Amino acid sequence: MTHPSGAATSAAPGFVDLHMHSTASDGALSPAAVVEAARAAGLRAIALTDHDTLEGIPEARRAADAAGIRVIAGAELSVMFDGRELHLLALHVDRSAALEAELAELRAARRGRAERIVARLNALGVPLRLDAVLAEAGEGAIGRPHVARAMLAGGWARDFRDAFDRYLGNGRPAHVEKRRLDASDAIDLVHEAGGLAIFAHPGTTGSRERIERLVALGLDGVEVLHPSHTSEDLARLDTLVRHFHLVPSGGSDWHGTPDGPRTIGCMHVPSAMLERQDALLVEREARRAAPTAPRG
Ligand code: AMP
Ligand code: ZN
Ligand code: FE
Ligand code: FE
Repeated sequence: MTHPSGAATSAAPGFVDLHMHSTASDGALSPAAVVEAARAAGLRAIALTDHDTLEGIPEARRAADAAGIRVIAGAELSVMFDGRELHLLALHVDRSAALEAELAELRAARRGRAERIVARLNALGVPLRLDAVLAEAGEGAIGRPHVARAMLAGGWARDFRDAFDRYLGNGRPAHVEKRRLDASDAIDLVHEAGGLAIFAHPGTTGSRERIERLVALGLDGVEVLHPSHTSEDLARLDTLVRHFHLVPSGGSDWHGTPDGPRTIGCMHVPSAMLERQDALLVEREARRAAPTAPRG
């Protein structure tokens, strides 16, 4: 079977990792270095899912061609649903013009947010400069981890955790809300881009009732395998996947650092999960090609 991304899939066993970050957002390694790590870990496919951006995908795909692995185009979106935030993984987004335009706006908003975070820190007596944060982010989508790194470099926080606990964490004095898409709009954009909308790490935020209402909005799947999930989460999500006919997904959410147990490939996500995603995409494509055919 051949996927629109050009890569052949196979029924042979193997592992994939469908949630990872690079320097295109707040990861530590370049997209090419993430792919190299995936090759070294023996993975057959990865999804690069940087926050609010697809900018790392071309570099990752070039590296993947050389390494003989497949890269799925992805992004992680923070969306609002019922007045609360949840994370949505946009996977297999290969027709992405409308999505790209929206992501560019989200990244511009992140830049404005970084300025406001720095202003708050300054008012709190931390003389951090915006330049230092921009330097940490480079070309990538700016996030709180970049602010935290700049604070560490300036000696204004002991470590990452300290920076979030005292200043940057949700509800802390230098926290500024992000611009977020509405869940329903985000799901529509992902579909327009030819992709699948997957509820990321729904362990604590994905009650059965919430998932049911997201399915009504077009949610395609849930991330069953994630380092934050307990064995109870796994069992519950497994049941929900079957009940709502969702596709499962899974990944490490690796940010390129030696994060103890949270490292690349740590979730041992079976290729079969990716094959189910491919099958759903093939089915969708067939419906698009034959819009008058009766719907199943
Ligand atoms: P942002 O997208 O700018 O809101 O930043 C979100 C990222 O910050 C997450 O993906 C985590 O990597 C990191 N993060 C959020 N909260 C914390 C925390 N309390 N401690 C450490 N890292 C955090
Ligand atoms: Zn992140
Ligand atoms: Fe997330
Ligand atoms: Fe993530």
